[in-house]
Amino acid sequence: FFDRIDAAPADPILGLNEAFKKDTRANKTNLGVGVYQNNEGKTVILDCVKEAEKILLEKEETKSYLPITGLPEFGRLARELIFGKDSEFVDGGKAVSCHCPGGTGALRIGADFIHQQNIASTIWISDPTWANHYQIATSAGLKFERYPYYDRANHNLAFDRMIETLSQAKEGDVVLLHACCHNPTGIDPTHEQWEIIAKFLAEKKLLPFIDFAYQGFGHGIEEDAFGVRTIAKYNPEFLIASSFSKNFGLYSERSGVLTVVSADVETAVKVMSQVKIAVRTAISNPPAHGEKIVTTVLSDPTLRAKWEDELKGMRERISKMRVLLSHKLKDAGAGDFDFITEQNGMFSFSGLDKDQIEALKRDFGIYAVASGRICVAGINSNNIDSIVEAITAVVKK
Ligand code: PMP
Repeated sequence: FFDRIDAAPADPILGLNEAFKKDTRANKTNLGVGVYQNNEGKTVILDCVKEAEKILLEKEETKSYLPITGLPEFGRLARELIFGKDSEFVDGGKAVSCHCPGGTGALRIGADFIHQQNIASTIWISDPTWANHYQIATSAGLKFERYPYYDRANHNLAFDRMIETLSQAKEGDVVLLHACCHNPTGIDPTHEQWEIIAKFLAEKKLLPFIDFAYQGFGHGIEEDAFGVRTIAKYNPEFLIASSFSKNFGLYSERSGVLTVVSADVETAVKVMSQVKIAVRTAISNPPAHGEKIVTTVLSDPTLRAKWEDELKGMRERISKMRVLLSHKLKDAGAGDFDFITEQNGMFSFSGLDKDQIEALKRDFGIYAVASGRICVAGINSNNIDSIVEAITAVVKK
C-alpha cells in the first residue's frame, strides 16, 4: 500500500529546529522558532496561568467531554477580546464562536466550513505569509491565490500592489488577513489602510477571514484589534481565527477560537449548526485544559490584571530588543535597520538574504529562516552583542 509514497519535504521551520538541536556549538542561537522567550531565553508558563491551574486542580470535578463548540462562556470571553466589552457582537447573537485546537484548528475548521458549505472555492493569501496558511487552505479543498504584501525595497507594506491584485478577486472569494503582527514580516496596515481595506472588501463583496494569532503582542489588546473592528464596521459577514498560544503562552494546550459573524441572528444559528458538523467530523470535541485556563484568567479580575501585565511585559521586552538591535547595528556600522523598530510582534523581516542567513548559521551558529525572518523574541541582553557582531560581519562581507 505505502511503497509508492514519496517523502514530504521537511517543514522549513521545524527542520531548522532539528538542525539547531544537533549543533554542538555552545553559543548557538535560535532565532527561527516562533515562541516567546524571556530575557533568559526560556519559554516559561505565565504566573496567571499557573494560578489558574491551581484553581482548576482543586475545583475541577470532571474530565467528561466538553460541548462540540466548547463552553459558551469561553466563546463569549474570546469575543470580548476581539470586539471589545460593549460590542454588539459579544452577546447579540450575530457572532458565534467555537473552541478549536489552537489558531491552526480555528483556521482549518473555518476553511472546512467554507468548503463544505460551498461558500467559496478560492482564498486569497498574502505573499509572504505563515507557510501553513497555504497548506491548510489546500487540505480543506480550497484553491489559493497570493496577493503581494511586502515591499522589499522600502521594508514596508506593498499596499497599492496588494489592493491592485485583490481587485482581480471574484465576488464571493475569501481574503485571509493577519489582524496584527503579520507573520513573517512584522508589518501591519496603518489605521488609514485598514479603513481602505475594509471598505474595499465590502464593496467588492469579498469574505474576510482574519487570522488573529498575536493579540496583545503589537501595541496592546485593544489597539491590536483595530483591524478586526474596522472590518466589522463595513463587512456584515466574516470569520476570525483567534489563538491563545502566544498571548497566554499556551502553545501546547491547543487553545483557539473560530468566530463567525453573520448578517443576522437567524443566519448565525444556522452557521453554528454547520460549524458543529465541521468540528464533529474533524475532532469530535475540543481539548478542555487550555480553554478552562483562559476562562478562569479572563473571568477573575485579579488574574486578568495579572495577565494583562504579563502580556505587556512580553510586548515591551520585544519592543526594547527591536530598538536595541537597530541602535547596536547602526553603531557597529552594519547600516540602517531602523525599520525593525516599526515592525510589530514576534517577527521581523531583517532584510538579510538567503546567503547571509546561511552564513549566520554556518559561521556563527545563529539560526533564522531563509526568507530573512528573525524571531525578535529570541533576542536577549545576553545574546544581542554576538547577534549584532554576526549580522555586521555578514552584511559587510
Ligand atoms: N497564524 C499565524 C500567523 C501564526 O504565526 C501561527 C503560529 N505560528 C498560527 C496561526 C497558529 O497558532 P497555533 O499555535 O495557536 O495553532
